Amino acid sequence: MFCPKCGSILMPKNIGGKRVLGCSCGYKAEGDVTIKEEVKHVKKEVHVLENENDPTLPLADYACKKCGHPKCFFWELQTRSADEAPTRFYKCEKCKHTWREYK
Ligand SMILES: [Zn+2]
Ligand SMILES: [Zn+2]
Repeated sequence: MFCPKCGSILMPKNIGGKRVLGCSCGYKAEGDVTIKEEVKHVKKEVHVLENENDPTLPLADYACKKCGHPKCFFWELQTRSADEAPTRFYKCEKCKHTWREYK
C-alpha cells in the first residue's frame, strides 16, 4: 500500500493498541486496514476411554466404591474450562469399576 498523499510506502504502526498503516508524512490509513489479531482458543477434549487402558496410571490407596478393593488407579481431567477444578477419575485395580469424583 502507498500513501495517497506523498506516494511513500505505508508502514505498519501501533497506534493506541491498534495496528494501522501509517506514513512518515503523517498520513494514517485507518479503519479497513486494521489488522485483526485473533487469539484462537483451542478446546481440549479428552475422553475417559483414552485413559482407561493407560498402564502408566498411578495407583492410589483408595478403596473401590464397588468391591472395596483398597487400590485404585486415578487420573484427572480438565473437563470444561480452565477455571473449574479438574475432575478426578478412579478405576478399581481389581474389578475395573470406574467412577468420577468432583472436588
Ligand atoms: Zn505520506
Ligand atoms: Zn472394585
